[in-house]
Amino acid sequence: MYRTHTCGELRLQHKGQPVTLAGWVQRIRNLGGMTFIDLRDRYGITQLTVNDDSPSGVKETAAMLGREFVLQTTGTVLERSNKNPKITTGDIEIGVTGITVLNVANTPPFTIEDESDGGEELRARYRYLDLRRNPLQKAIHLRHRMAQEVRKYLDSQRFLEIETPFLIKSTPEGARDFVVPSRMNPGEFYALPQSPQTFKQLLMVAGYDRYFQIVRCFRDEDLRADRQPEFTQIDCEMAFVEREDILQTFEGLARHLFKSVLGIEWVADFPRISYADAMNNYGSDKPDIRFDMRINDLTDAVKGKNFILFDSAEYIGGICIKGCADYTRKQLDELTEWVKRPQIGAKGLVYIRWTADGIKSSIDKFYTTDELSVIAAKCRATQGDLILLLSGDKKKTLEMIGSLRIEMGNRLGLRPNNVYAPLWVYDFPLLEWDDETQRFYAMHHPFTSPKPEDLPKFYSANRHDITQVNANAYDFVLNGVEIGGGSIRIHDSGVQRRMFEVLGFSEEEANYKFGFIINAFRYGAPPHGGIAFGFDRWCALFGGQETIRDYIAFPKNNTGRDVMLDAPSKIDEEQMKELYLKSVKSEA
Ligand code: ASP
Repeated sequence: MYRTHTCGELRLQHKGQPVTLAGWVQRIRNLGGMTFIDLRDRYGITQLTVNDDSPSGVKETAAMLGREFVLQTTGTVLERSNKNPKITTGDIEIGVTGITVLNVANTPPFTIEDESDGGEELRARYRYLDLRRNPLQKAIHLRHRMAQEVRKYLDSQRFLEIETPFLIKSTPEGARDFVVPSRMNPGEFYALPQSPQTFKQLLMVAGYDRYFQIVRCFRDEDLRADRQPEFTQIDCEMAFVEREDILQTFEGLARHLFKSVLGIEWVADFPRISYADAMNNYGSDKPDIRFDMRINDLTDAVKGKNFILFDSAEYIGGICIKGCADYTRKQLDELTEWVKRPQIGAKGLVYIRWTADGIKSSIDKFYTTDELSVIAAKCRATQGDLILLLSGDKKKTLEMIGSLRIEMGNRLGLRPNNVYAPLWVYDFPLLEWDDETQRFYAMHHPFTSPKPEDLPKFYSANRHDITQVNANAYDFVLNGVEIGGGSIRIHDSGVQRRMFEVLGFSEEEANYKFGFIINAFRYGAPPHGGIAFGFDRWCALFGGQETIRDYIAFPKNNTGRDVMLDAPSKIDEEQMKELYLKSVKSEA
């Protein structure tokens, strides 16, 4: 037996017991006659003590130990004279009677501590060492808990966990596919699933009624902090449901996770807000409603006073920053620079400050104090507040103010990561017109059903009518992050064909790509709908982190590389030949 207890288990009640522990050397403190060794495993740290009275050989072995050596040790549980309340085993120590070195270890390239001295790149290269650190252990543990609780809840709701294949044909989630060449089918490729979308719909046609899967999805997109080329979804589908059934069922899942993972009992219904309201009030389709700071439409209030910037703008909006009227010129200049950055793209920033000395603004030349008061009232400002205004094209301006709102929320500490604000956003536009390619794109994916009342517009020959069609789609948003999205699906083969037509697919193209699903709909497809949640993101949010990397045991870096494996990498000529592949990189 390698161990009788773990390194996190022993307490005063075990005093006097002989025990055997195994683990890694966290730290060694040699105080002359006494040596303290902190032994670590997944469960905690236990202090081992070796002194002059230790049996022969023990002291000698202790003297040659290094950090991260793997040990087995026997000893007796003793009460510590110097207790350490910071660790759960801090009341005891082990009076060592024997040490066996199970394995030696090179000195790790960085410290295995909560705050490591290793940089990100170095830690990524030695991910197995980084994973020994407490913060990562906690993250991986939380992920495990989440997965178990997801299964528990969905199982209790009669969902079946069903696996779907990875080597498939392209699925339309709007990103690029990762492809895999087929040796047995020369010149042909599989695509890795961007999601199991078509399979879960086929499972509904097959009568499985309620499906879920915690599943890897692959999307070849440009990466950001919260994106990985492969990521995990909680993917779900239900038959014979309307939107309300889905929202209720998955609000139930969220409540269950809040309760079981975070210990938060959520009583109130999650707020629901339409896409249009989300954009108009928060400048985002994933609003962070932990703080108010809503956008106010000031278009009518500010036009017609000879201020060209506003007079020529389609839309002018403002947000009220409570208690910030004392912002200095320098702070305001800095904010102006912030909104002018290419990522935001504003031309400038107009401000109104309501201090004890009255209302002052950067547009005093054009507006009287009374007129500025009207604007302030519209923004629900009172003395002490600062109002920030942006103007331009409506959609773009709302998005810019939305970004500014989040930035101000960050600067003012209004987005604490231990406060949660879930909500549903619904009624998204079904399609988006792209001027560049002169075609429509599905805002969610091409299997999303138009709202029944919008069907006549969906069949209209007029492009404008089509842009007005709303989708029976919904997103689950938590703290300004889109955690989940789904829709009621098209289950009528005629409507599905119309969708492909609107998206600009010829009949042959549609049949080539999606014939299998159009066909399946001819064999008794039930009304159905579903949703998928970004599992990595949800874990990160529950862990109080922005980035998902810590919640994935072996993630890729932001150029899509696994620096530990050094992948992707070249394959040899023989393998290329076998796959009927030729690289043109050197010729390019
Ligand atoms: N397949 C969709 C996605 O990955 C989710 C869904 O519609 O259920 O976003």
